[in-house]
Amino acid sequence: MKPMRELLRRYFGYDSFRPLQAEIIASVMDGRDTLVLMPTGGGKSLCYQIPALALPGLTLVISPLIALMKDQVDALKANGVAAECLNSGMSDSERTRVRRMAQDGELKLLYVAPERIVQTGFRRFLESIELSLIAVDEAHCISQWGHEFRPDYRNLKTLRRLAPHVPVIALTATATERVREDIADQLEMRDHAPFTGGVNRPNLRYEVLQNRDKYDELLRRLKNRPGQSAIVYRGSQRGCEELVEELARDGIDARPYHAGLDSDLRRRTQERFVRDQVPIIVATVAFGMGIDKPDVRMVAHYDMPDSVERYYQESGRAGRDGLAADCVLFYGAQDRERSIYFIERMENENERRSARAKLDAMLAYCQVGDCRRAALLRYFGEEPGWDNCDSCDVCEADMFDATEIAQKILSAVIRTGERFGSTYVAQVLIGSRVKAVRQRGHDSLSVFGIVNDYSQTALREIMATLAGRGLLAWAESEFPILRVTPRGRQFLSNREEISLPVLDSMKRGSRGRRSRRADDEAEYDEALFQILRHLRTQLASERGVPPYVIFGDAPLREMARYYPQSEQSFLKIRGVGQAKFREFGSQFIEAIREYAEANGIEDQPAETSPSRQAVVIRGDDSRNRSLGPSLRATLELARKGVPLEEIRQRRNLARSTIETHIEQLIESGELRDYSQYLPDVDEFERIQEAFERIGHYNLRPVHESLGEDISHWKLRIVRAHIRIQRNRPSQDT
Ligand code: ADP
Ligand code: ZN
Repeated sequence: MKPMRELLRRYFGYDSFRPLQAEIIASVMDGRDTLVLMPTGGGKSLCYQIPALALPGLTLVISPLIALMKDQVDALKANGVAAECLNSGMSDSERTRVRRMAQDGELKLLYVAPERIVQTGFRRFLESIELSLIAVDEAHCISQWGHEFRPDYRNLKTLRRLAPHVPVIALTATATERVREDIADQLEMRDHAPFTGGVNRPNLRYEVLQNRDKYDELLRRLKNRPGQSAIVYRGSQRGCEELVEELARDGIDARPYHAGLDSDLRRRTQERFVRDQVPIIVATVAFGMGIDKPDVRMVAHYDMPDSVERYYQESGRAGRDGLAADCVLFYGAQDRERSIYFIERMENENERRSARAKLDAMLAYCQVGDCRRAALLRYFGEEPGWDNCDSCDVCEADMFDATEIAQKILSAVIRTGERFGSTYVAQVLIGSRVKAVRQRGHDSLSVFGIVNDYSQTALREIMATLAGRGLLAWAESEFPILRVTPRGRQFLSNREEISLPVLDSMKRGSRGRRSRRADDEAEYDEALFQILRHLRTQLASERGVPPYVIFGDAPLREMARYYPQSEQSFLKIRGVGQAKFREFGSQFIEAIREYAEANGIEDQPAETSPSRQAVVIRGDDSRNRSLGPSLRATLELARKGVPLEEIRQRRNLARSTIETHIEQLIESGELRDYSQYLPDVDEFERIQEAFERIGHYNLRPVHESLGEDISHWKLRIVRAHIRIQRNRPSQDT
């Protein structure tokens, strides 16, 4: 794998392969047919791009959408990879040029749409090139069992027969067992090696909001992430338009996207979204296929989708870059009723049954009081390996002992004859003397009024959760009515215990749910990140490519964390390969340097060689800068006298970062008691004396004049001390 790793470094700027990538690449290099199931953002592209670079001939990539294809090719070219595409949007002469390049062996990757394969001339073209590998992206499109069947993909069989000895690699993010088998069949894969990277998307946080003020919740979430990309899905075109208008009134810039809009406008909207010119899209299911935007930070479903497959697919458009993103689904009883209404009206009985089964699975996802992530995995036939995923609303919620309330609810359902919905049962339980209850004489039941510590809403939500746990079930009828399942009866007779997540509706007047999100993402300088993002947008629009083609969010965040200002340190940023460094390096370094100088920050990779230490003379205005959250966190620890090494460990940041923090905190006057960080008196005096002798604050001459191994850190902290003393009114010292 050594040469593969070398290619990874040189072209893509990464040091190591992700799980499965190395194995998959080895399988492809062995000439085997390979089927890859990996979640979105798992890194599927490299699985054929690296072999394409290593193999002698050309790799043909089948990809379903022209728009997507062009962006992928642009991204590869930006990395210095010889890639092109052939599609109907190109002029004849462009196509001829590309074909000639392929024939002359000047291309490593050629992207084509599936419909081209059966066109006359393509066969002859195939014969005239050296073909090393066929890669089929979005391979689930080949199966009519999938949710995105594309008849053109059936042409791949022809391609296979035209080039019987060329190995094929098929890649998809969503495939049930059945679809997987279908892919292998349709592509006539020979003793193929399947690789399943699993369904889990660890960087996504899942949340279901039940019966809540949808609009306010959505608005709050959108306001919390200004400028970030988000997709909001709605069930209807009218719904999209209405929501866009409502958001506009609240100052949120969102654009609609649905099949009712003219295709040109749709294309423009999509393009502006991908290019960061429009942050939020409110869309029907028409939107998505062909969206390869890596930095979507939230996907919200304002209405419930009709299947888990669709939900997984749509929510999966969040966080393709592997950074944290949120998937929020709003669910209310009306969603359930509306879906049932449509299903009941389906003509074909088989379709109706299958739609109903899909709906039930979706409802279970919304209602079950179990880990959302686990529910998704199980749906795709995978057993989750955790009890608590730590980043879904259920796992983050506190649990409470629901044994007693569950017993009361189940009893009330039984006593009222299993003929009523959750509202009615709740009314009986809280002792409501509404007419309906009195007329039926239910106010004389033993369960009447036995609950006084839960609201009606809370009771209904608990009932939904119990249904999700299989103790209650919704029976088919004109109205949704509740029955107790055999499991529920067993629960009662065996006196079992049950814990359920604490619901917001149960906490009257409390602050709401606390977030215990496992945020293992490193901190970065938000202000610099925004500057770099702006530069990225600018460079991208000059070149007419999507911003992520320049750099993704992940490398930008790393830049905003380490402030690389030299060639070596810039090349250390993950995602910076040779080609990108040559093309964009100087402009980004320039921007970082400018920012760093204005804010008195130094280049801070873990090992900084002395010669690269930028010498920073601070202007006084930098002192009163307001502190960012990261600095504040360090300050809190430093004020408590926590030793530097411990701060570093607790905050999981580079030592150099903490050192810079301490230095900044001292100089800003925020940290007044820093004596513990100073060197011992002896060293301190020698350093102080050297600074005074040399007469300015440059570290290098001081370091040299001391002629011994005194760390830069000691020099910096003494320098900070001298500076703050000078700037302080004398009575303070
Ligand atoms: P998929 O096609 O599976 O959705 P991509 O191929 O688009 O995923 O990769 C998702 C992201 O992960 C991209 O930003 C890509 O550059 C990054 N990536 C892929 N492989 C690696 C790796 N070995 N190291 C670091 N980042 C990687
Ligand atoms: Zn969970």
